[in-house]
Amino acid sequence: MAETQFSFNSLMEITKRPPIVFVEGHGSWLKDSTGKEYLDFVQGWAVTCLGHSPKVLVDALTKQAAKLINCSPAFYNETMIQLADLIVKHSCLQRVFFANSGAEANEGAVKLARKWGQKYKNGAYEIITMDHAFHGRTLAMMSASGKAEWKTLYEPKVPGFPKANLNDLNSVRAAINDKTVGVMLEPIQGEAGVFVASDEFMKGVRDLTREKGILLILDEIQTGMGRTGKLFGYEHYGVEPDIMTLAKGLGGGVPLAALVAKESVCCFEVGDQGGTFNGNSLMMAAGIAVFGEMTKPGFLESVSKTGAHLQKRLKEIAGQFGFGEVRGKGLLWAVDLNKEIGPQLVEESLNRGLLINSPRKNTLRFMPALTVSREEIDRMIDILKGAIQKVGEKP
Ligand SMILES: *Cc1c(COP(=O)(O)O)cnc(C)c1O
Repeated sequence: MAETQFSFNSLMEITKRPPIVFVEGHGSWLKDSTGKEYLDFVQGWAVTCLGHSPKVLVDALTKQAAKLINCSPAFYNETMIQLADLIVKHSCLQRVFFANSGAEANEGAVKLARKWGQKYKNGAYEIITMDHAFHGRTLAMMSASGKAEWKTLYEPKVPGFPKANLNDLNSVRAAINDKTVGVMLEPIQGEAGVFVASDEFMKGVRDLTREKGILLILDEIQTGMGRTGKLFGYEHYGVEPDIMTLAKGLGGGVPLAALVAKESVCCFEVGDQGGTFNGNSLMMAAGIAVFGEMTKPGFLESVSKTGAHLQKRLKEIAGQFGFGEVRGKGLLWAVDLNKEIGPQLVEESLNRGLLINSPRKNTLRFMPALTVSREEIDRMIDILKGAIQKVGEKP
């Protein structure tokens, strides 16, 4: 057993982890130190988008590691330029700043917006964010997020993030004042439990921000990089953000994030923004490899197709067991369980060799590799059905 082999005493306890130690992963499968295999429908929280250790990523990292790992952010390097060009070529935005985590990219977005507000909007600095939003765990991003559990954690909070409600345009309109510099939201609220911004709302926010001369910032950290069946979530809506942030899938598993913006918004001056590891050659090579796969003909279509299969199978289960709504897009889905059995289902599924996630007690979330097969989806459904019956639910 893992418990006898490993002691967990040297690590800070920041989350309840099961006493399992993972040692290997390939595609949709993980293996623990006892040799037990697990079908992975979490994938590092939608991070390992091509599955575990895909050959393209291993090759790119190995080759780059032998060539150049890091030459300092004070210099250009080859892969940094190449990845920035790729992001610009495939998005509606023109300039990229690389970071190491989603929260750091979002911090950069807020800094850029505040700088822009100082230069062009009379010092406006407030950014309206959504209730239940998740934007990361730095102090400022905890303020920007709308997680009820964080309300009083690590006080005092960073000011400047008034809240509105997703899919309620009037609440956004009501929050706008002279100090407002932008609106920031996720096209799909992932951590909140997969709540999709409606077409009407997204278009409405874009029109409203334009009318008021303020910025639209999209946090595409979870929805970007093919997760929804398009390269970026905004493409579903026919709107263009002024600023977008990427992370999670961008590096295919390695820490890599990006702040991407329209030329007209790029007002950082020399010395305003930076970071020691930002834009290092090794992580950039990972991003290039991921981009290469995702922009191959048919890749995104296959995400939509497998996603439709996952949606169909989840709807069957929801119907069978009397669960509620099945929400999502592409390969990001949630099932509303109508009761608080999420954590039990996660535990029972884990026992049966399946990793799933319960972002809320009444919700299950599925974010498999974008390369997941129909057979793996069917296998997941079989294991999940067993787990649902084990916790006492009857079809
Ligand atoms: C995961 C996530 C973040 C935070 O990214 P980190 O890399 O954990 O800092 C921010 N926004 C959204 C929408 C996310 O899903």
